Amino acid sequence: MTLKCSACKQMLEVGNFYVSSNSARGYRYNCKCCDIKNASAWNKQNKDQVRARRNSEEQKLKSSEQHRKWASENRAHANAYMREWRKTGTYITRDRVRQVGGVQRVSWANKSLIKEAYRLARLRTKETGIQWHVDHIVPLSNNIVCGLHVESNLRVITAKENKVKSNRYWPDMPEAP
Ligand SMILES: [Zn+2]
Repeated sequence: MTLKCSACKQMLEVGNFYVSSNSARGYRYNCKCCDIKNASAWNKQNKDQVRARRNSEEQKLKSSEQHRKWASENRAHANAYMREWRKTGTYITRDRVRQVGGVQRVSWANKSLIKEAYRLARLRTKETGIQWHVDHIVPLSNNIVCGLHVESNLRVITAKENKVKSNRYWPDMPEAP
């Protein structure tokens, strides 16, 4: 018995078709050869889809990691953004961050020394396996003081120490009345 393949249109011996309970004739409409070709094309297409999805997820993860990293290294800046977001529902511009005192930048700060502090924090984090932060010795924003984002006001401490310190303490702070 021969059957016609609906893909390649050839009349082929029944042994060239897979048995199928779904089709009226009891065999698949495509010959084995065409079935295999279609399946591998489908697999390839799917693989591309899977790969594309995985790539976009990796991309998302990467950018959120980058944001987390930026936020942890620029906490005062990030906090200022969040404060404004909660208050007004919009993000503020860089200039506004300076106005509201998110980050007290001064022109005489030594940028390469500041960068060095952040590099050291990253290095220690990598080498010790625990988080290190760049801390502003005098807090950037507080009801009483306003520290500066300058190299002399920076030190590298563990995240744990940093959390304990919060922005409530600084050297020589006045005693509570
Ligand atoms: Zn065929």
